[in-house]
Formats: sequence, structure tokens, C-alpha cells
Amino acid sequence: MSDFGHTDFGLEDLPLRDDLRGQSPYGAPQLTVRAVLNTNENPYPPSPRLAEAIGRAAAEAAAGLNRYPDRDAVDLRRALADHLGHGLDAANVWAANGSNEILQQILQAFGGPDRTAVGFEPSYSMHPIIARGTATGWVSVPRTARFEVDAADAVAAVKEHQPSVVFLTSPNNPTGTALPLETVEAVAAAAPGVVVVDEAYAEFRREGTPSALSLLPIHPNVIVSRTMSKAFALAGARLGYLAAHPAVVDALQLVRLPYHLSAVTQAVARTALEYADELLGAVETLRAERDALVDWLRAHDFEVADSDANFVLFGRLPDRSEVFRKLLEQGVLIREVGPPEWLRVTVGTPEEMALFRDALLTATGRA
Ligand SMILES: *Cc1c(COP(=O)(O)O)cnc(C)c1O
Repeated sequence: MSDFGHTDFGLEDLPLRDDLRGQSPYGAPQLTVRAVLNTNENPYPPSPRLAEAIGRAAAEAAAGLNRYPDRDAVDLRRALADHLGHGLDAANVWAANGSNEILQQILQAFGGPDRTAVGFEPSYSMHPIIARGTATGWVSVPRTARFEVDAADAVAAVKEHQPSVVFLTSPNNPTGTALPLETVEAVAAAAPGVVVVDEAYAEFRREGTPSALSLLPIHPNVIVSRTMSKAFALAGARLGYLAAHPAVVDALQLVRLPYHLSAVTQAVARTALEYADELLGAVETLRAERDALVDWLRAHDFEVADSDANFVLFGRLPDRSEVFRKLLEQGVLIREVGPPEWLRVTVGTPEEMALFRDALLTATGRA
């Protein structure tokens, strides 16, 4: 790119907020390699039949693109509510461009200067980044050695810091750990503000693991956040949503940009929901592949966190960067994230997992 003649001009010459100086952006590498196992996407693309249906829906929406889209995305929210069940309707549901935008809107409405959000880490790196972007204070409470949230610790932290927003991620990223409902309930009862249960991976949880959706009628301060980016195999479409008390939805309308969700996005998401069974069809396969991967890693003397998600955190690797690099040299991209001696791998196709297993044995000298 041309430098417009200002060769010495840089970030430091801009009126950037002090709290953003020296910070780095979110940046999971986007590389073309044989096995892309670093951002927890579903490895199975839409079928040709669904891709065509999405194309038709987009073409129909295109015929009306001279007009702004439905600002309140009512049809889509109704379809999402039907999909979730639990007696929810459109008034309980809000949608945005990925659940990251949902989380940002939550912090715009309930966070901000002089306010605090609490999270239990290691957890999703975007929670503190979005807090920073909205100038919300961030308090990190450590999880236990098994990556669980200790209910008593959580309640104590909430009482001490009086956060307007609490993040509970279940199943948690990057550890895969799901939370018992009792923990969510204890936090919801103690919290002076809202409790966001980020359930981006809910569809992958093991049999008998609960969703916080069942708490919504009892705890009006609970917000359950979901996404079509993971189990739904639609990361490229950018559609996230939440279920909550209608008052929460009213609050978010105060901060959302008008027409934030394009007519094309709404049409694509509505069509995808009609194919929910097909899109979620791979979830069973991925759960089985995950459980097999956990068993295999343990059989090879790795430490593995129990996972209710479509990824697995494993260790202990005294030099995890070296293992990461050696995997990449063999065409396998995973994620250097979480506690220092651990790495996270997304569950891919059987072929990708075979490649990963071979590459890992080589990378760790176990071959
Ligand atoms: C991937 C992920 C999201 C999803 O983000 P989108 O913006 O919906 O793609 C949200 N929360 C967690 C914990 C995630 O891992």
C-alpha cells in the first residue's frame, strides 16, 4: 500500500485511547495447510443441496437490497426461538453478526467505564478483549487445577467485585469443561448484574450435561449466548444469538446499530435453520471422534481435560511452542492457547485426526 508520503506516521501518532496502546488484536492464524484444527470450526461444509438453498435465499434477498433489512430481524428470531424450544419466543431472542457481536452489545449496554466484568480463566480470550473495547474493567478469577469453576470462589468473587456482567463459559473454551447448573444458579443468585452463559459449544456436550436455558424462567438476569459458527457449521455466515428475559432484549436495542443484521445474513440464517437436522447431523460423529481422541491421547500418556466441546486441551508439554511448530511443519495447525504447558486441538474429520495423531507422535518424539 502507498504510504501517502507520510513515511514516519504510525499508530503512536494517532489519538488512540491510552488503554489500547501496546495491545495486540485477536489473531488466530489463518493458514492454508492440510489440517486446519485451530478455530473450532465444524470440518464438514454445507451439502450441495443446502449451499444451493442458501444461494436461492440470498438471491431473493438481493432483489430487495435497495431497502434496509428488518431492523428487528423478527422472522429470524422467531425461527431461532423455535429451534431452541424451552417455551421461548421471538421476544426472548436477539441475533447479531456472530456471538462476539452479541457479547459486545451486552457489554455496551451493561458494562462501560466504572463498571466491572468478571470471568473465570483460562477461558475465551475474546471476553476480556471485548471488555477492553467497551472500557469495562476486567477481573479474572482462576479456575481450579481441573479447570472447573469452584462455586464458593465464584460467589465470593461476585460479592467482592460487584460486577455488572459475569461470564460463565460452558462448555468452556479452551478447556472443554462444562459447568453444573448449580454453579450457574449460585452465581446468578449472588450477582448484582447479568450473568452471561456463553454456550458456543452447547450442542457438543455429553449426554446428561445441562444447558442454562432451563434457568431462564427462574433467573431473569441470566443470558444464554449461542452461535451458528460451531456445531451449526456456519462460521462464514456470522450469526450469533442469545436467549434471555425480554427486558434484556429491550436493553440491547438501545446500543445495537440500526440494521446491524443484513437482509442477506437474515435470509441465509433462516434457510440454514430449516436445514438444522442436516447441519447438526455431524455433531454425533464429531462427539464420537472427540471421545476417541481423548482416549487415544490418554493412552499415549498425555494429560487431557474432559471435553464437552469439539476440541480437546492436552498437555503437559514443557515446550509447547516447539510442539506447535513441529505440527505445523507437518501441515497440522492447532492452537497455542490456554495454560502454558497445554495445547488445544479442534476435532476434525477422521482423515485430519489421523494426520494429527501421526504428526503429534513425531513432534513429541513418541513415534
Ligand atoms: C467460537 C466462540 C464464540 C463464537 O463466536 P462467533 O462470533 O459466534 O463466531 C463465542 N464464544 C466462545 C467461547 C467461542 O469459543
